[in-house]
Amino acid sequence: MREFDYQRAHDVAGAVALLGADPDTRYLGGGTNLVDLMKTGVERPARLVDIRELPLDEIGTTPEGGLRIGATVTNGGLAAHPEVRRRYPALAQAVLAGASGQLRNMATVGGNLLQRTRCGYFTDVTQPCNKRVPGSGCPAIQGEHHNHAILGASDHCVAVHPSDMAVALTAFDAVVRFETADGPGQVPLADFYLPVGDTPHRETALPPGALITGVTLPPAPVAARSRYRKVRERASYAFAIGSLAAALDVRDGVVRDARLALGAVASRPWRAVAAERVLTGAPATAETYAAAADAELAAARPLPHNGYKVDLVRNLVVAVLTELAEETAR
Ligand SMILES: Cc1cc2nc3c(=O)[nH]c(=O)nc-3n(C[C@H](O)[C@H](O)[C@H](O)COP(=O)(O)OP(=O)(O)OC[C@H]3O[C@@H](n4cnc5c(N)ncnc54)[C@H](O)[C@@H]3O)c2cc1C
Ligand code: SF4
Repeated sequence: MREFDYQRAHDVAGAVALLGADPDTRYLGGGTNLVDLMKTGVERPARLVDIRELPLDEIGTTPEGGLRIGATVTNGGLAAHPEVRRRYPALAQAVLAGASGQLRNMATVGGNLLQRTRCGYFTDVTQPCNKRVPGSGCPAIQGEHHNHAILGASDHCVAVHPSDMAVALTAFDAVVRFETADGPGQVPLADFYLPVGDTPHRETALPPGALITGVTLPPAPVAARSRYRKVRERASYAFAIGSLAAALDVRDGVVRDARLALGAVASRPWRAVAAERVLTGAPATAETYAAAADAELAAARPLPHNGYKVDLVRNLVVAVLTELAEETAR
């Protein structure tokens, strides 16, 4: 591991100033992803700015009735918060479906959004990888890709985003807040992760040196009846091979509102806009749910070894929406 300097920031402006425009410095949240990548040589920062003491560890209500979540709130703290559990249950479930209790107590909201892909070629510095070394190639396309993207990928990268939390936040229209030397800014999570295109190394719309200060969730009554379902290769301590955050409002047998976001199918959490369009105003039946899934999956371009994800997503959508509709009817 490369030797590095360590500094602790005590306020937001100080953290931003410490990082400056230095491409060799990184913010340190819980360190559960960054430090692993430093050990393998994927990340080689000369300096870390520890942000865990910043006053960004609160969850509060917005004047509009949504939630403001600080960037250094731990994943464990987020999942346990009564208002998150009551008003956005799929978010609490998504966080609890990730990692382990120990990791969730270290990992932060900001770090979770910026965790890197688990593509095995990305984490192995002996391999080429366009995301790690632009222009070096993408061995996953001809090689190991059974857990790679079926939606929104390109010839340059087919990796998926690993976060569970970000999938639920995407379903509920979260907005990421950040601070730069030029002042504060914000970007909807829907625009936060950049399309892969021919620049897979450029992952987010965050300006250089920006510190994520938190996430805002707008009020969403439909979210109170929501669910996160994660499919993985073993029952715990594993990343998703497919996941769904869904919320459904059904009245008189008709879908009034629906929110759907998919995980582990694309380079970013995938808001299922086409599926939501089919659902809204349609009868709440298994046929409608299947048609909604098919509308979203029409854009799927599976690789030779990940076609199973198309069936997996379809089944997830039908099963979870059926359960949510049955709960509404009770
Ligand atoms: C064994 C294991 C299993 C896991 N399983 C899952 C899983 O199933 N699902 C899942 O979603 N996740 C899983 N994770 C990932 C885990 O959730 C992430 O490692 C964690 O959320 C990252 O948060 P952190 O605070 O530790 O980030 P760090 O490692 O500290 O930082 C990650 C990146 O974010 C940057 N950063 C951190 N905070 C900020 C900020 N406020 N502003 C700007 N940049 C910032 C850092 O510079 C770094 O580049 C797993 C991790 C491990 C080790
Ligand atoms: S899929 Fe993306 S991360 Fe994986 S090897 Fe290809 S370029 Fe690298």
